[in-house]
Amino acid sequence: MQVVNNGGVKYDNLLLTHNRDVVTIRRPIRTQDIIQLNSPHISGGQFKNVTTSPALFRLAARFDDVGFSDIVNIRNRVMELRATGAEVYQFEGGEPFMDTPEFIKAAMVQALHENKTRYAPSSGLAQLRAAIAEKLRSKNGIPVRDQDVIVLTGGMQGLFGAFQSIIDPGDEVLLLSPFWTPIKDLVAGCQGRSVLVPTSEARAEGFEATLARYASSRTKAIYFNTPQNPTGMVFTRAEAEAVARFAQARDLIVIADEAYEDLVYEGEHHSIASIDGMLERTITSFTFSKSYAMTGWRIGYVAALEPWMTGLRKATLYSSNGVSTPTQWAALAAFTDHSDLLIRNRNAYRERRNLLLAGLNELGFTCELPAGAFYAFPDASRISPNSREAAEVLLERAQVATVPGIVFGPHGEGHLRFSFSTSIETIKAGLASLRRNL
Ligand code: PMP
Repeated sequence: MQVVNNGGVKYDNLLLTHNRDVVTIRRPIRTQDIIQLNSPHISGGQFKNVTTSPALFRLAARFDDVGFSDIVNIRNRVMELRATGAEVYQFEGGEPFMDTPEFIKAAMVQALHENKTRYAPSSGLAQLRAAIAEKLRSKNGIPVRDQDVIVLTGGMQGLFGAFQSIIDPGDEVLLLSPFWTPIKDLVAGCQGRSVLVPTSEARAEGFEATLARYASSRTKAIYFNTPQNPTGMVFTRAEAEAVARFAQARDLIVIADEAYEDLVYEGEHHSIASIDGMLERTITSFTFSKSYAMTGWRIGYVAALEPWMTGLRKATLYSSNGVSTPTQWAALAAFTDHSDLLIRNRNAYRERRNLLLAGLNELGFTCELPAGAFYAFPDASRISPNSREAAEVLLERAQVATVPGIVFGPHGEGHLRFSFSTSIETIKAGLASLRRNL
C-alpha cells in the first residue's frame, strides 16, 4: 500500500507498500505517525492502527547483504513440476540418501523413555563432549580437551558462531571459490566482506602465492572447506600445510568446515587444526548431518580454543541455548558405535559417484573425479555458458534437476552441481533421460 497524505506526498518504502491498496488520508501525516486504516484487505473492514514510521520498519542493517538460499527456489521449482504429474530426476539435493541408522533412533527413543528431556548444559552434555573430544584426538589428530568442544544445532550454527566470534564490521574473509554459498551470508551477517580466491588458481599457482594476491590489511580469516561443496575437491596435506603457513605468517584465523570428513574416496581427509601451531588459530566445524544421515536432527559440534570458545558459547547461549537433550543422547550413540557403518556408507557413495561420473563424461559434461563429498561439478557449457540456462534446459527437456554453478559464486559459472546422494535407479534413469532428450 502507498500511504498518501492530502498534500499528495507519497510515503513509499514503508511496510505498507506490500499491499496494492492506495489509501488517502485526510489529514497531513508525518513520517512517524499513527494512522487508522479500514481497508478490507488489511483489517477486514475494521479500523486498524498502523504507523508510517520508516525507521520502525527498517530491518537491522546487519541483514542488508544477507541473502536467501537460491537452492530453496530450485527445490520449489521441482515441487511445482512434480505437482503437474511430471517425474523429476533429482540431483539438486544436499542430503544423505539413506535413513538415519536404527540404533541412533533407538537411542533417542530410550532417552525419551528415561525422561532425559530437561535442559542439558548449553554447550552440550558432558558425556557427549568427552566422546567428541576423544574422536577429535584419535581420528582427526586435533589435540583438544573436553572444554574445547561445543555441541551446536548443526554445522550451520557452528559456522554462524565461528564468524560471529571473529568478524568485526569491515573485516575480510578469504573464500576459496566456488564456495558453499551460505558462507558469504554468514560473513555479511557480521558486516564483513567475502573476498573470493579462485581455487583453480590456488591449485595451479600455489596456495600461499595465490592467497597473498587476494589478502589485504583487513583480512581476518580464511574459510577452508574440505571435502568441498560444490566441487567435491579434497585438499591434500601439503595444501593444508600451505594454507597453515600463510595463516601463521599473516596472523589469520582459519574457519575449517569438515562437514564431509567421512566421505573421502581418493586420498585422505586432513584436519588443518591438526597441523603444528594451528589449533589456537583454527575453529573447526563438524556435523552429524552427513556422516550419520542426520540432517533433520540438527546437531553438530565445533572444536576451538579461547577466546573463540567464549564467543561460540555466548552465541549459543543467547540463540538456541543448546541442542535438544534427547538428540544429544542419540548423537552419543553414533559416537560409541564401532561398526563399519561409515565404511559401508562411503562405499555406497563411491559406487554412485562412479556411475554418475561415467555417464556425465560420456554425455560430454566433462567432469573431474570428485575425491570427496557427494557432488559432481561438471562443465555444462556444451548446453550453455550460462549455468542458470543450462540447469533450466536439463530440467525442462530431461526433467533432471541440478543446481546452477553460479549459485556457488562467479567461479562456478559454466558448471552444474549434481548430487550423487540418491538411489542407483535415479542415477541410471536420470542419465538415460539426458541421453534421450539432450
Ligand atoms: N558445510 C557444508 C560445506 C555443507 O554443505 C553443509 C550442509 N549442506 C553444512 C556445512 C551444514 O550442514 P548442517 O547444518 O546440516 O549440519
